[in-house]
Amino acid sequence: MDMRQVDIIVPCYNEEKNIARLFGETNAAVAEIADCRFCYIFVDDGSIDGTLDEIRKLAGGHDNVKYISLSRNFGKESAMYAGIRNSKGELALIMDADLQHPPALIPEMVRRIDETGCDCCAARRVTRKGEPRIRSFGARMFYKLMNRYSDIQLADGAVDFRLMSRRMVKAICSMPERQRFSKGIFAWVGFRTEWIEFENVRRLEGESKWSAFGLVKYALDGFLDFAASPLKFVGAFGCLVTVGSALYFIIEIVKTLVMGKDIPGYASLLCLILFFGGLAVAILSLLGEYMGRIYMETKGRPVYIEKESNIDED
Ligand code: UDP
Ligand code: MG
Repeated sequence: MDMRQVDIIVPCYNEEKNIARLFGETNAAVAEIADCRFCYIFVDDGSIDGTLDEIRKLAGGHDNVKYISLSRNFGKESAMYAGIRNSKGELALIMDADLQHPPALIPEMVRRIDETGCDCCAARRVTRKGEPRIRSFGARMFYKLMNRYSDIQLADGAVDFRLMSRRMVKAICSMPERQRFSKGIFAWVGFRTEWIEFENVRRLEGESKWSAFGLVKYALDGFLDFAASPLKFVGAFGCLVTVGSALYFIIEIVKTLVMGKDIPGYASLLCLILFFGGLAVAILSLLGEYMGRIYMETKGRPVYIEKESNIDED
């Protein structure tokens, strides 16, 4: 029988305690899939614990374990990209190292792709149990804003746990941007995606790497990466203010001609000056956000730097 290769890409940052378990549980879960050969691509994202040693140990004992170790911590986005770049299988799967993405779903994902002929099967969390309220609220707001004002539609609760066809992987690799927001990229490249739902699972060992500040930055970056609408909004607002003040100007002229001069209101004048001064700075800083992104993109720095790997170059 023709065996398809499925690459399991696992970004790892300080996951020494999880790697062996992840490997064991995933192997057990995929054993029932007869027509696929599974290959692991662990990406050590500059871990400072024993993660790389754990990965090397696995690679020493198993031919199907490949790894790439990055020269420092580049972030999950870069680690996923490193994995995807090195994937050559007919299918590629991305999953977290902390077992928050249940390996038991993998057979169902493969089946869905086979049955429906779609290019991607992705997982969606239906509950956010065990997560701080404020984080869930922030996430909901983010999806609302994103779907309304950006170029792409994101599924609420979608996680970076997805199985993709080779042609979808190629499409993702062909996107040249360096500041990568994968959730957006997955949506942007198109292809039909099937969703499977699962309940939130707590991470096995260690802690989430996300700080509140980090999440807000991630959301903002993601939004600005796929939306030019704030610029249009600012333009529309400027027009509105111009038209409004022109009308006001006419009213004032008429009033002066008909009723003579009245005493000017300094307080209201001051308020307006301060208000529009503040607004101008805010709008400038919005432009600055886009400019900063253009600046970083034009540098053309690589998304990640590889330090060590057991994957043959070709
Ligand atoms: N991760 C990574 N680089 C980072 C941060 C995280 O490769 O800089 C990996 C991490 O090892 C895990 C996955 O990304 O496999 C998800 O990270 P985490 O569990 O901290 O995020 P959460 O599940 O809370 O969204
Ligand atoms: Mg996690």
